[in-house]
Order: sequence, then structure tokens, then C-alpha cells
Amino acid sequence: MASTLSDLRFDNRFTADLPADPVSSVQSRQVAGAGYSRVTPRQPGKPSLLATSAEMVHELGLLPDTVASDDFLLAVSGGVLPADADPYAACYGGHQFGNWAGQLGDGRAITLGEIVTGAGHRHTLQLKGAGPTPYSRGADGLAVLRSSVREFLCSEAMHHLGVPTTRALSLALTGDPVMRDMFYDGNPEWEPGAVVCRVAPSFIRFGNFEIFASRGDHTNLRTLADHAITLHFPELVDGRHQLTADDYVSWFTEVARRTATMIVEWQRVGFVHGVMNTDNMSIHGLTIDYGPYGWLEDYDPGWTPNTTDRQFKRYRYSAQPHIGQWNLTQLANAIYPLVGAAEGLQAGLETYVSTFNEQWASMMAAKLGLVGADTEAVSGLVQRLLEILPRTETDMTLFFRELGSVETAEAVEPEQRLAPLLDAYYRPDELTGDLRAETLAWLDDYAACARRHQLNDQQRHEAMSRVNPRVVLRNYLAQVAIDRASDGDPSGIHELLEVLRHPYDDQPGCERFAEKRPEWARSRPGCSMLSCSS
Ligand code: AMP
Ligand code: MG
Repeated sequence: MASTLSDLRFDNRFTADLPADPVSSVQSRQVAGAGYSRVTPRQPGKPSLLATSAEMVHELGLLPDTVASDDFLLAVSGGVLPADADPYAACYGGHQFGNWAGQLGDGRAITLGEIVTGAGHRHTLQLKGAGPTPYSRGADGLAVLRSSVREFLCSEAMHHLGVPTTRALSLALTGDPVMRDMFYDGNPEWEPGAVVCRVAPSFIRFGNFEIFASRGDHTNLRTLADHAITLHFPELVDGRHQLTADDYVSWFTEVARRTATMIVEWQRVGFVHGVMNTDNMSIHGLTIDYGPYGWLEDYDPGWTPNTTDRQFKRYRYSAQPHIGQWNLTQLANAIYPLVGAAEGLQAGLETYVSTFNEQWASMMAAKLGLVGADTEAVSGLVQRLLEILPRTETDMTLFFRELGSVETAEAVEPEQRLAPLLDAYYRPDELTGDLRAETLAWLDDYAACARRHQLNDQQRHEAMSRVNPRVVLRNYLAQVAIDRASDGDPSGIHELLEVLRHPYDDQPGCERFAEKRPEWARSRPGCSMLSCSS
């Protein structure tokens, strides 16, 4: 157990394996021939700790008391560097909204280094919002409270939901105001500055490979691939260090598989990332970079929370699976020089599609509580349901959760079957005529399918409650916690974090976190649509 962050065992392989930028200034510039630039976090004016994740504190091997110390606060807000830290900003590029955007890089994230826990787990610690780097492109390198609360809460919530994600150790205020034009309408305001300490095996993105490939720097492309594979995917190459074209292909195929699994999980819980640019795609298949993300409230496959994407909705809920494949195609193109032939990478992309399709079908069967039932019958029910749900605003989380309470016995009246679901409708008066008839018919067929497969209601209910969460981080819930924290009261963050730690449980006294979106939140900024300003 470590009593300060300096007691943690650092083993900074990224900075050891990749070449450093020789220039030390943080002036915005192109950085060629390097994987990163060494930088120092900015001194926070008057830092204070708002929240920590107890699970991450434990995982890192920190003592709970450590968290209460000034050392900890200073380390996670950028005020003091842990003894063996080697802080840097990584150089990466990316495709943004379908177009190559050139060099991007860590513009407001500074990695402190990699630690290895007593259990042998490698974690990279990164401060988001810790000041400018050569990749800040004229911006300030800072983050504001609202976006930091959103990242902190959502990454922990996703973890507890069982969705692969980067994690958050802590959320701290810097004490320094930050100027932001939240609506991009020429009315900037001062907002509280904050830093999230994020944790992941690494923060390597598809874009780290793309930047080298785009510059024809195949030497560093190989160095990066070898670093990533030998350190983070040793099982794929039996611990070998001399890698072959086949090794790069099997690694790519593994990234494709993990990406498919991640996106199946997003679809399961109704998460919309909002900015699936290739610089926001982790090679570990982890959800990364929580910006203008959102949660489906009413099941609307065409929805995206991101105002910047309002016109074409490239990153809408229903497009996420296809965008995953598009992004992997960019990664395949980037590593092609290491492979020299298209077939293996093409097969890797096909693995993405088959993995996604198989896992999506089992995931939907599990959401319906029909695991083990005839797959064709289930797929028919899934298709019909997904056509019915968007016809009137139907809360996705509530609908699937309550579907577990639907009685399937033959003698049950159709209206009685519908009863537990009524609360999921935002406009119950629209559930009339054909729509009501089709919904009742669907429920009848659903019940018949469950009976045919001898699925007992009680067991089905329990199984469904393990895949259909009771609580998710509804957009308005995060906003209410942010509003309170902005007024100096962080307890809303703590309450929400506590509830989100057990998303599959019916938590007595916490029912208000599981209710559908209130009417006032329908069009309020932060509760429905978000800009990229953070
Ligand atoms: P994102 O859309 O959050 O993935 O960011 C895209 C790029 O913009 C990344 O290179 C970020 O580091 C950079 N960026 C975003 N906000 C800031 C900021 N406030 N200061 C510096 N760089 C930023
Ligand atoms: Mg990003």
C-alpha cells in the first residue's frame, strides 16, 4: 500500500520506447519524428478535491488516508509531480467527422507516467485540463468544471455498467477561472477550472498510428506498434519482441474485436459517444474522451447529443457500429506499411463485422431475457420491437428494465401485460390505435416465445435485471449535479457516483435517479444537446 503517489512504482515505457520531441517549448507547433513532447503541468492556483473513485484508489494500491492528504491533491491537480513521473503530451493525428485533420495530439492532457501495481497491473495516469502543450493549437489546455464532472462520473458509471472504459481516479478544482464560450455565440464567460486524473492501460489512440503513417515515418510507426503490442498485448505474440507482418495483423484483428465488443455494450445501455473521431478511439477497445456524449432517453436511433454534428448526425446512436468499422479502416490503412498486403487487414475488418453482429444478437436476446430461445424467433421479435419503440417517445432504460416484470402466462390479459411498461412512455396519450394494438400483439408474441422455451418469469426477471440497468447517467442528472457543484456544493456528485456504482440494483430511497427525464429537461442545454466546448 502506498501512502503518497510518489510511493507508487513508476515504469515509464512509453517515454522510454518512443523518441521524444527535442524542443521543450509548449508553443503550438508541428512535432515530427517524435511520439511525444515532455511538458510540465500548470500550477493550480488554489486546488481542492471534489471527488475520488474508491475503486480506483484501491486498484492503484493507495491507502484511503492518502487521498485526504495535500500530497494527493497536489499530485492529481498538477501542483507537484510524483517522484518518478515523466510527464508528457502525446503526438497523434486523426480523422474528424470523416476528414483527415492532421496533427492533433494531447492539447489539454498531460500523462504523468505508467505505474505497475502490486498485483502487476499497468496503469497510465493522465491529468486532463492541466495546461498547454505543443498540441494545444492556440487553445488554453484547460478544462472546466462541467465537462470534468461529466468525464469523471460517466467513466466510472460506464465501468460499473460493465462497459469497457478508461477510468477516473479523481476530480479536482484548480481554483483558477477559465474563459469559455459554451454556446459558440460570442458570449464567453468565466467558469471554474478543473482537472480529472484519468487512468487506463495506455491512452494510445488510432490517431497515434495515423500521424506517423501520414508523414511516411514508417520507422516510428513500427516502433509504436512494437511498443503497443509487446507491452499491452504480449499474449498475442507469445512474449516475442521481433514482430512479423502476421503479428501486426493479429493485433489489428484483436483491436477490431475489442472495438466491436465496446460498441455492442454502448448500444446495450443507450450510450452515444458523440465524437467518434479516430483520435478518440482507444487501441484497447475502451471508451475514451468523454465530451458531448449522451444517453438515449426516448429510444431514438437517429439521436446525437453533439450540437456540432447536428446537421449530418454522423455519430448518432444507430451509426456507431458502422463508424467503428470506418475508424478501424483508417487504422488498417495506417499500419498497412508494416503489413504490406491487404488481405489480412481486410479479414480483420470482417472480424469486426462478424463479432459485432454475433455479440449484438446475443446482447439483444439477453435484453429480452430470451437467451437460449430459437434465434430466428428472437431476431424477429427484436426487429419488430426496434420498429415499434421510436414511434412514440419511449424511455429506453425504463422500457427494457420493466420488460422483465411483464407476466408471460397465457391467461394474462394483453392490457395487464402492458401495465408495468406504461411508465416508460413520455406521451402515453400517443399509445393508441395501431401503435397500441401492435405493442400488445408484440407483447403477446414475446410472452408466447418465453413460454415455448419454458422460461420462468422469476428467473427471466433476474437475468434481465443483470443486463438492463435501473439507473444510467441521464443527461439531466449530470447537469443537476454540475449546477450544484458550480454553486459550491459537490454532494450531488457524490450521491450520483454512489447510485451509479450499483446500476443494476433497485436501490431503495434512490428511485428519483431512475425516473424518466422530467419535462423541464427536454430542451435545456446540458440536458439534451451539448457543444464540444469544454
Ligand atoms: P476532442 O474533441 O476533445 O477529442 O479534442 C480534439 C483535439 O482538440 C485534441 O487534440 C484536444 O487535445 C484538443 N483540445 C480540445 N480542447 C482543448 C483545449 N481547451 N486546449 C487545448 N487543446 C484542446
Ligand atoms: Mg479527444
